[in-house]
Amino acid sequence: MKAKTKIINHFWTADTPVDRLPTTINPPVYRGSTVLFDNFEDMCLAGKGQYDGITYGTDRFPVQRSLEEALRELENGFVTRVFPSGISAIQNSLYAFTKSGDHILVVDNAYGPGVRFCKKILARFNVETTFIPPSAGEDIEQYIRPNTVLILLESPGSNTFEIQDIPAITAIAEKRNIITALDNTWATPLNLKPFDLGVDISIQAVSKYISGYSDVLMGAVTVNEKYSQMFSDYYSLTELYTPDSECYLALRGLKTLSTRLRQHESSALQVAARLQEHEKIDTVIHPALPDHAEHHLWKRDFSGSSGLFAFTFKKDYSAEELALFINALDFFGLGYSWGGYKSLLTAARQRRNTPSIYAGKTIIRLNIGLEDPDDLILDLERGMTRLPF
Ligand SMILES: *Cc1c(COP(=O)(O)O)cnc(C)c1O
Repeated sequence: MKAKTKIINHFWTADTPVDRLPTTINPPVYRGSTVLFDNFEDMCLAGKGQYDGITYGTDRFPVQRSLEEALRELENGFVTRVFPSGISAIQNSLYAFTKSGDHILVVDNAYGPGVRFCKKILARFNVETTFIPPSAGEDIEQYIRPNTVLILLESPGSNTFEIQDIPAITAIAEKRNIITALDNTWATPLNLKPFDLGVDISIQAVSKYISGYSDVLMGAVTVNEKYSQMFSDYYSLTELYTPDSECYLALRGLKTLSTRLRQHESSALQVAARLQEHEKIDTVIHPALPDHAEHHLWKRDFSGSSGLFAFTFKKDYSAEELALFINALDFFGLGYSWGGYKSLLTAARQRRNTPSIYAGKTIIRLNIGLEDPDDLILDLERGMTRLPF
């Protein structure tokens, strides 16, 4: 055998010099497009859809399957599939359950890129979207049309943290055979159990708390029994691919989710309490605070909060004035996404499709990381001294 052929024909299972493969605590990662069959008979079975092994890279490698099963169990759903990002999970949930001529309802505080996807892409496929107020409840009835097939909720919603009356909405939807999907990224499956509240589809941006270290982009969709077959068929047909290496990181992050989330929650509540007393701040927007408009719903449905909340200033500062405050901060990075160990800040004027007290207002959103909350409070207080009264 020539050297070039030798290199190609070295296979890791047969040629690895160990008697037994080691059992590490974390699973080994597979990388691959091609999966080799043992013989032609197996390949023929695969061709007929009768082979019970993994046939190709898009067939979901073991770590992906293990992560999906862990998330499914945590959500208490029937089928979970992961996607290359959170937004991809949202988009594919909508593709999987809509067709031309359908109408969907989307809460107006849903994740921005998801809202844009409905307006610009779904519309091209003749799926019409109506945006509904973020604090919707049984009043949802008035928006339902004969061709309404799906309601997308996000509670609390992005940036402004309104909470929907989820059980009131799912009760109405179920009677009319309308699918309800909920983006559960803020609470994670630890602090909100969507299926107990009648939701059909629970969506997670795994990029946030589940992976937890700002180094993974991933989404997950968990579906109840009723829609499980339709969803897993859709997933196999689209042959979406999420690398095992990324699933490995998400699975590793999941192990510490509960511990991290408890710290994020407690630190965020400490920071929020101090900000509430600050003379330049108008409102601290955090569902766990008693003065939040839907605090009673949060208390009824959620078992905890997380590290992401927002506030508004009394004065309508210009971007130049805000820069004096924001650029002075030592511990808050300026960047999108959240749920990681580093504290982050975003500040943006809110655009809304429905009437809102926050429309046109600048919302300062904080991702409270795993730093000592005393340092974060001092940093914010020091930064705010730069702002004029
Ligand atoms: C970030 C986010 C997403 C999208 O996740 P990506 O992995 O960044 O695409 C979806 N929903 C919510 C609520 C988010 O905050």
